[in-house]
Amino acid sequence: MSSPSESRRAKAARRAGEFPPAPEPLAVPVFDSHTHLDLTVQEAGVPGDGDGDPVEALIAAAAKSGVDRLVQVGVDVASSRWGADAADRHPALLAAVALHPNEAPRLSDLDEALREIEALAARPRVRGIGETGMDTFRTGDEGRAAQEASFRAHIAIAKRYGKALIIHDRDAHDDVLRILDSEGAPDTVVMHCFSGDAAFAAECVRRGFHLSFAGTVTFASAGNLREAAAITPPEQMMVETDAPYLTPVPYRGRPNASYLIPITVRALAGARGVDLDELCGTISATGERVFGPW
Ligand SMILES: [Zn+2]
Repeated sequence: MSSPSESRRAKAARRAGEFPPAPEPLAVPVFDSHTHLDLTVQEAGVPGDGDGDPVEALIAAAAKSGVDRLVQVGVDVASSRWGADAADRHPALLAAVALHPNEAPRLSDLDEALREIEALAARPRVRGIGETGMDTFRTGDEGRAAQEASFRAHIAIAKRYGKALIIHDRDAHDDVLRILDSEGAPDTVVMHCFSGDAAFAAECVRRGFHLSFAGTVTFASAGNLREAAAITPPEQMMVETDAPYLTPVPYRGRPNASYLIPITVRALAGARGVDLDELCGTISATGERVFGPW
């Protein structure tokens, strides 16, 4: 009989063979504004032979693609602490810490968990508070009050420590704007995996938020996202994987990792009608301003 961790390893080893081939590298480097290295290793392993430190392997694969800096994003206290420690060890990594909006309503002691997030927020290589926000897709009415209380507390932490706020917004555009407007948004807000249309993008752009586009912008059905990208100023754009999820076309269903960013940023340059190298340079500079220096 195998232990749960053995079966997870076995599953990861099996899925490791499913990583897509490396795309043509970028000439001008960019950063991945949102990745989950811990979940990638757990759920999919690493591309290649998998020898050595799996986090190093994912960082090295990304660097070969021209993705030379990453933001590791937490979803609960344990993953946030893991990310903060990993960022201390790896120069290419910075961390964001938070309780995910679907996690917050499940906690028996939300206040205690928020205190732990706040302690992590003070660490120098933690540069973002996220992912936090609202999700009416996976959290029902019964969890909504705790979700909103958690979001408001994260906004306050981001402001207290001067860190970027990284927002998860799933089927909750109006709630997210209402809560941000009522609390007063922090100086820097990143809409992670931007999922709205051009009208919502315009609302976010007007507020000075950054829109981070994921592999979803390559999906055939995502004309609304490409329209959103088309009206977003390059200075307010970011690109991300949300790895191991949201793998870009044509590799949907296979694991995602930061080395696949070139596929998404090429789609973004196409949607915005700008030169790829120029866009990469702009995104890189935005990353240094918002999260950096690494
Ligand atoms: Zn995420």
